[in-house]
Amino acid sequence: PQELVARVRTQVRRKRFNDALRQSVVQTIEMAVTDGLTGLHNRRYLETHLDIMFDRAVSRGKPLSYMITDIDRFKSINDTFGHDGGDAVLREFSNLLRRQVRGADLVCRYGGEEFVVVMPDTDPEIAARVAERVRAAVAERAFDLPSGRVVPVTVSVGIASLEGGADSIAALAKRADTALYDAKNSGRNKV
Ligand code: GH3
Ligand code: MG
Ligand code: MG
Repeated sequence: PQELVARVRTQVRRKRFNDALRQSVVQTIEMAVTDGLTGLHNRRYLETHLDIMFDRAVSRGKPLSYMITDIDRFKSINDTFGHDGGDAVLREFSNLLRRQVRGADLVCRYGGEEFVVVMPDTDPEIAARVAERVRAAVAERAFDLPSGRVVPVTVSVGIASLEGGADSIAALAKRADTALYDAKNSGRNKV
């Protein structure tokens, strides 16, 4: 009986150790593809998953739209309210973005104050509606700051959709980027 107890104890210890190790590996992988500030997926995750979503849309002949948003004059929000004020705006914006899109859409913090949403099964007309809804939702609310003050925020948005022929992820992202710069150059707070 004593030997049995000793052996069981060893096995239980080993099992606990392996579980903890596995858990820590899973956590590390999640951290590598998650943005710490907003909890959204990061650019690395986007790059892997956009490949899959793009290939799936092409092979099934389904639409796919790509939206990039960039907060307007974000530098001046940081300059006026401090970095923690800017961070609060980024967090509130990412929550808003999450609420405005569907579960099947992939929402990522692309970097800084730029966010990308990949929308499967979404044609250009629907994508334009989603983008306009996001733009309007941002513009119509006041963003809360840690200091208790509020700040108005606007975003500019660029969208692009999968085209027939020889489209590529790089070309799709480039078209959305160009559209974003058009929105910026024609006055901001625009799709
Ligand atoms: P535009 O309307 O042309 O987009 O102007 P902008 O000021 O938003 O553009 P710019 O790219 O010059 O500024 C982006 C700023 O975002 C600069 C950088 O300091 C700030 N930023 C990037 N990452 C973070 C972050 O994690 N937290 C905070 N608070 N600020 C950040
Ligand atoms: Mg930017
Ligand atoms: Mg900006």
